[in-house]
Amino acid sequence: MVVDDSRLARTALVEVLEKAGYRAPITAASGAEALEKLEAAWTEEGGAAMDLIITDIVMDDISGIEVCRRVRRDRRFGDIPVIIVTQKDDMAILDQAFAAGANDYLTKPINAVELTARVRSALALKAETDRRLAREARLRSLASRLAMYNRKLRGLSNQDGLTGVANRRHLDRILKREWSRAQRHKRELAAIMVDIDHFKAYNDRLGHLAGDECLRQVAQALAEGVQRGVDLVARFGGEEFCILLPENNATTAMALAEHLRRRVEALGISHPDSPTARVVTVSLGVATAAPRAGGQPVELVESADLALYQAKQRGRNQCRLHGAGD
Ligand code: GH3
Ligand code: MG
Ligand code: MG
Repeated sequence: MVVDDSRLARTALVEVLEKAGYRAPITAASGAEALEKLEAAWTEEGGAAMDLIITDIVMDDISGIEVCRRVRRDRRFGDIPVIIVTQKDDMAILDQAFAAGANDYLTKPINAVELTARVRSALALKAETDRRLAREARLRSLASRLAMYNRKLRGLSNQDGLTGVANRRHLDRILKREWSRAQRHKRELAAIMVDIDHFKAYNDRLGHLAGDECLRQVAQALAEGVQRGVDLVARFGGEEFCILLPENNATTAMALAEHLRRRVEALGISHPDSPTARVVTVSLGVATAAPRAGGQPVELVESADLALYQAKQRGRNQCRLHGAGD
């Protein structure tokens, strides 16, 4: 786009450009018209369909320097090179032009060879910038597709994204399977519900990221604390975990629960605002079931949850067996 309020100057510039092979450059007779045409050249899909602006400095309404400044300030147009055309080598005005973001300058009267050379290098710069931006856009779109696939994969997987232990879906599936197995073999099945004590206060005091890290450590302590491969540690939701123990009775399940409680305590994660202890602790509810026909797997988890509630009521940092008397 050639911007000049003198028709003669515009025509001279356009002539040189056309001779050099640049067909029908856009022209503007004022700063305001230049900005309008720039705006008109913009489309959401195609971006700014303008490769270069050659502008006179002194114009009645909006000066070439102001045009340059506005082009640079607008994210949509910031990469379009601007060549300033001055009456003479006025250093003060050139300083302003460069401060406004001009890439190059020419002095009047225009020399055809010089103009063509400057235009060529400005356009080469623009083409390179366009290529780089296109590459970056491609990378961004690849990265976002990758993130989407990762989310999908996590959804399909059995793992909880934050802690790495099994997720709720997997727990539900395994619970059903173990329930039928226990039914078939007439064996007992146990579950432990684990809930971090005063975890809201932990988050409030130390921040959500520290809370996440605490969740990871507790999950790991639980996962390492169960000894058999068939025991399943799952994140039940929030700061609650559920552990499924096939072929366990109340005694063995309670022993394991106590072992896990100590393990978490032994992590020694400082919890300044806990009324229960100086460190992060958990409460655990234990339940067992001898699945019979007609029973529902969810009953086991509900019983463990009830026991957990009692453990909380009785002062936290302890294990409680469902159905046990005082
Ligand atoms: P209680 O001893 O009775 O269990 O008290 P509590 O504060 O642990 O229980 P409450 O249910 O009031 O708060 C649970 C907190 O767990 C609130 C929530 O912000 C936090 N939480 C749940 N999921 C996450 C998580 O993924 N990351 C973090 N950082 N915090 C979580
Ligand atoms: Mg909870
Ligand atoms: Mg809690």
